[in-house]
Parts: sequence; C-alpha cells; structure tokens
Amino acid sequence: MSFEDLGLAPFLLRALAEQGYENPTPVQEQAIPLVLQGHDLLAGAQTGTGKTAAFGLPLLQHLATSAQEVRGGARRPRALILTPTRELATQVHDSLRGYSKYLRIPSTCIYGGVGMGNQLDILRRGVDLLVACPGRLIDHMERRSVDLSGIEVLVLDEADRMLDMGFLPSIKRILAKLPKQNRQTLLFSATFADPIKQLALEFMRSPREVMVTPRNTVAETIAHRVHPVDAGRKRELLLHLLAQESREQTLVFAKTKHGSDKLATFLDKSGIKTAAIHGNKSQSQRLRALGDFKAGRVTVLVATDIAARGIDINELPKVINYDLPMVAEDYVHRIGRTGRNGASGQAISLVAQEDAKYLRQIVRLLDRDMDIRDVPGFEPQTPIRWGNSAPGKAEQPGGERPPRRGGGGRGGQRDAAPGPRRGGAAAKSAAPRGEGGGPRREAQPAGTGRRRRGGRGRGKPAQPSSAP
Ligand code: AMP
Repeated sequence: MSFEDLGLAPFLLRALAEQGYENPTPVQEQAIPLVLQGHDLLAGAQTGTGKTAAFGLPLLQHLATSAQEVRGGARRPRALILTPTRELATQVHDSLRGYSKYLRIPSTCIYGGVGMGNQLDILRRGVDLLVACPGRLIDHMERRSVDLSGIEVLVLDEADRMLDMGFLPSIKRILAKLPKQNRQTLLFSATFADPIKQLALEFMRSPREVMVTPRNTVAETIAHRVHPVDAGRKRELLLHLLAQESREQTLVFAKTKHGSDKLATFLDKSGIKTAAIHGNKSQSQRLRALGDFKAGRVTVLVATDIAARGIDINELPKVINYDLPMVAEDYVHRIGRTGRNGASGQAISLVAQEDAKYLRQIVRLLDRDMDIRDVPGFEPQTPIRWGNSAPGKAEQPGGERPPRRGGGGRGGQRDAAPGPRRGGAAAKSAAPRGEGGGPRREAQPAGTGRRRRGGRGRGKPAQPSSAP
C-alpha cells in the first residue's frame, strides 16, 4: 500500500517523498483513511510506530482543504494537539511543519518552562494549528489569550502518559472549552487502562479503533540482559560496560533527577561525554542535551522516565536501565527506543537485590525470558533472591538464568509466581509452549539473549472496529 492509496493529497505526498518516507507504517495505513473520513479514532500505538504522521497527515489535509468558519474576523485555532511533555510537543510540531512544507498553515507550539511573551505574540497574530502541553494551555485559557471555540480536530497524543502525569483534570477543563458538535477527536495511547476508555466514552463519538502494538509487547529484535550487582557497585559496573563500547550512543535510565545528575557528572568526569535530561532542567538545557546526543557530541544521555518520554531517536542500539523502573510498563516505554524498525537492540538492566521485585514484575508483564548473567569482577557479594526461585549467582560466567514463566502465550497456564530463575533443568524442561510451539532454545553463547517463546505475536494489526 502506498501513501497515495490512502487518499492523501499531492502537497503532502511531495513532502513525504522528500523526507524519504516510501510506504506507510501499519498505524498510518489503518488510521489515515479513517481520519480522512472524519471518524473519531482510538489508536493503540507507541512512539516509533509513525503515529505522528498517522494523525498529522489527515489533520493537515483537513486544514488545507476546508475553510474555517469565520467568526468576528479573528483567526482561531482549528486543530489542537495535546501532548504530555515539552519534548514531545516540539517533536510533533517539527514533524508537522515538515509534512506541511508545501502548505501555509500557521502553527505554534506552547509549553511551560519558557516565557509567555513569545507565545502571546504568536497567539495574538493567530494560528490554525496549536500543539500544546495541558498546563501551559490552561494558563493561556485563564488569560484569555487563546480561544478554543473554533477547534475542529483534537488530538490527545500519548494519552496514557498524560493521565499518568496527572493531567486528567486539565484535559477535562480544556475539553469543556471545545466545541461539542462537529469536532473530530483522535486519541493515541500505548496502553488502554480503564481511565483512558472512560475518557474516550465521555468525549468521543463512536470512535473507530486501531491497534498496532498489542499492549506491553516489545520488539522481537531486542535482547534483554540483566546484570546482578551490589547496589554500591552499580556506578562502577556502568562505567565498565560503557567503556567497553565507548563510542556507542547509549540512553541510560535513572530513577531520580538528582541521581541522573550525579551519574552524568560521574560519567563525564570519568571521560565519557554525558548529558542528563530530567524535569528540573530548563527547556533550553533539555533541548541542548537532546541535540548534543542526537548529533553525537555526547555519547551517553542519562534520563528519567518522564523526561525521556517521547524522545525520538532512531535506531538507538542500546538502552541501559541503571535503575529499573518501579512501574513495569515504563520498561516497555524505555526500551521502545531501541530495536526499532527491525533493527537489533540491547536492553541492559543493572539489578541489585532491592530491585529484584521490579524485575519480577517486568518479566511477568513482558512474558519474556531474560538473559541474566554476572559480569566477571562484579558478581554481587549478596546473592540476589529472585523470589520463589533459588537465590544465587550465575552458574558460570556467560551462562544464563532466564527468568521465565510457564505456558507462554494467550490462554497458557501461568506459573503461580512467575519470576526470574536459573536456567537449569527446571527451566529447560518447562513443557507448555505458546501458540508458536517449536523447540525451545537452550543456553546460548554470551552476547545473545533469549527470545520470547511463542505467545502473542507483535504488531498484529486488529481490524478497525467500533467503540471500546
Ligand atoms: P513517531 O512514532 O511518530 O514518533 O515516528 C517515529 C519515526 O518514524 C520518526 O522519526 C518519523 O519521522 C519516522 N516515520 C514515520 N512514518 C514513517 C514512514 N512511513 N516511513 C519512514 N519513516 C517514518
């Protein structure tokens, strides 16, 4: 299927061709025709799937091919895209500017952490398209510097994350100011927990649904590796791992803002060019850090979960979890930045005893084996207790101890308490396999991770269907 087949206009096709887009991604293939037909849409798609163009292209086509209902002479925004973070807002805005290269669609991007003056000037002059973070948009609404009564298309991008960040009340306040009739609403989210469904039920009209990434699955091309380590030696181990491949661009996740700063300073002083990105950094510092990382001026970017959300870095070979996320779903978001578009990627986690419980939750969520191995010289003094299974160290350097669960795949019987465990006889004899069947792989040489067994396929597009 080509972009032309989806019904996109020549002025967009030309811009896409110049950007090197040859074929639509699955979410684009499914969403674009529905949005062009004017349907509300619930889309399950994460960053990296091409979701921005999936809503952006039909939205731009709508703006370019239909006229605004003029009221009182003032130009009011016609389309509003809400995003959880400043970084994502900037990226979405940049992407849409690229797609609308051959159009004249005045637009702006508004977010907090920067002065109001410039945003006020642009809003006063008038825009058709507004990309905004909820907090700052509310500020503008309170100042009456923005009039949302002319919004024809609303996009909630990364809606799950907006809710996680506590934006639900702000979103509802914004929604209350939008026209109820003749508004098209598009909601994109990686996950569909109940509050998202509730939001959809309340504010959408018979939305169609497309799903390109089944919940909580990750690219098959990613190798997941876990290095057990004593908490006090994590920094040293990280440095050791980074030093082995000193020029490899690596995104490192830390739990706290303070922790990210300390880690970045430590790595930088140790000779690895590092930047940190987190919520206490100013917008310009964050953009600079991201720009330096993308341009290769820094090799390592240390980030917290929220700051990293929406960062668009293509083909990142490696993500290291210096700290495991406390919420297992964040693991999926973190490593979604590697292994994109079929490229191989590595997700490495440094796990100390106190984090073993988080690893168990991740394994359960992913339904996937992990390759657990000690790094020689960094074996934990205190053997890590993985839960139900035997505590201990790797049986031999390079050997693997896959966390596992039984009966992989839909409909399979779960272990009573799935959790990491040694790759001994018990793991190897685990009988039931997922739908995929096929022989189970035995221990692998160092450097290879286990792949998930059978079970859910990835990216199997669902047929568009009706409301949730
Ligand atoms: P997104 O999921 O919107 O953040 O997009 C992820 C990346 O994929 C961005 O760098 C896009 O520029 C790129 N992209 C989106 N759609 C396509 C496509 N059809 N062909 C090639 N690259 C694409």
